[in-house]
Amino acid sequence: MSGLVVAMDGPSGSGKSSASRGVARALGLRYLDTGAMYRAVTWWMLQRGVNLEDAAGIAARSAEPALAMGTDPDAPGVTVDGVDVSGPIRGAEVTGAVSAVSAVPEVRRRLVALQREIIAESLPGGGIVVEGRDIGTVVAPDAPVKIYLTASADARAQRRTAELDGTTVEAQKAAMARRDSIDSTRKADPLAKAADAVELDTTPLDLDEVIAEVLRLVKERV
Ligand code: C5P
Repeated sequence: MSGLVVAMDGPSGSGKSSASRGVARALGLRYLDTGAMYRAVTWWMLQRGVNLEDAAGIAARSAEPALAMGTDPDAPGVTVDGVDVSGPIRGAEVTGAVSAVSAVPEVRRRLVALQREIIAESLPGGGIVVEGRDIGTVVAPDAPVKIYLTASADARAQRRTAELDGTTVEAQKAAMARRDSIDSTRKADPLAKAADAVELDTTPLDLDEVIAEVLRLVKERV
């Protein structure tokens, strides 16, 4: 049986997570947060004391962490080696380190394979909304709906600052610029808009408007 895959890519703070979950909920689809997978592997590497400046060292251990991803848009959840890491992967330590880990090709190969398995498993039930950086270009290049979300640097930093305690818009702006620069200039599967993706600038939109626009695009294309 065939199902729908909606690919949602874009930089940090573009509104991907909330929009992807809302779209999945509205359409009764599963939801996969691929950023959470890179974050979970990063958490595991930090726990094991792996030197994150040593790409070969990261690659050598990349097959060890056992990830289990929840795909319920209301309660996604992620465990590594049986430990629920949903909270810790959002912390500053993981956020500051994840781009170094996600740039390692061996890590990406393994997680992309896992992402494709999860997508394939979701299809008989109707399909899945998948958010990340390389979904439309690498993970699911045949997805019938591809959205590339953007927002101004100020809007993205303001949204992220509102979600976190003890930070400022300026600090978030600098941290996001650093992460986006690593994510879009790395050799392996950089952040990029697929040629056939629809770009949606969420700067002037609230969440409901973003969800409505994506649902309109889904209807138009499917
Ligand atoms: O989306 P989120 O901010 O949680 O992603 C965390 C990091 O994971 C990104 O900054 C990027 O380095 C990496 N990532 C990736 N490819 C994806 C999703 C996330 O490289 N498909």
